[in-house]
Amino acid sequence: MNAAAASHATTPEAAKAWAAAASVCDPEIPVLTLQDLGVLRDLQLDRDGKVLVTITPTYSGCPAMLVMETEILKALREAGFEKVKVETVLSPAWTTDWLSEAGREKLRSYGIAPPVRASSSRQALFGKDSVDCPQCGSSDTERVSEFGSTSCKALYRCCSCAEPFDYFKCL
Ligand SMILES: [Zn+2]
Repeated sequence: MNAAAASHATTPEAAKAWAAAASVCDPEIPVLTLQDLGVLRDLQLDRDGKVLVTITPTYSGCPAMLVMETEILKALREAGFEKVKVETVLSPAWTTDWLSEAGREKLRSYGIAPPVRASSSRQALFGKDSVDCPQCGSSDTERVSEFGSTSCKALYRCCSCAEPFDYFKCL
């Protein structure tokens, strides 16, 4: 971090840049923003108006990351920031625990079961996810397929309401 860099919270300009980057949505789950996902790690605005955005990709090799980067550049340009660099940081690795509470709530109302927290006692005890149906809340669900509509998701079915649904896999 260089001495001229300002934290995103310190100036109105930096706050504006942060808001622009934070509003970019996940290309695969358009209800979630990069801030909801926890993908947006940091944003520095220096005295020359240069913006450095730090992101941590979700699933490694997810083709969506390139789209996200392009969207961040576009959002910042629209907010009046021309000189933007997006830096990808792989360590510490992103986990689904970085999803914000608001993000988990948005997923549920979108019909996707949010990832079970790594600290979930049921997972700790039985070594598997216990996924609640996002439609009716029943925990009586079964996994149909390891892969749902994208590789980030698994396909589940609810045994109570018989509805199939996507589960955002844990990492
Ligand atoms: Zn159900």
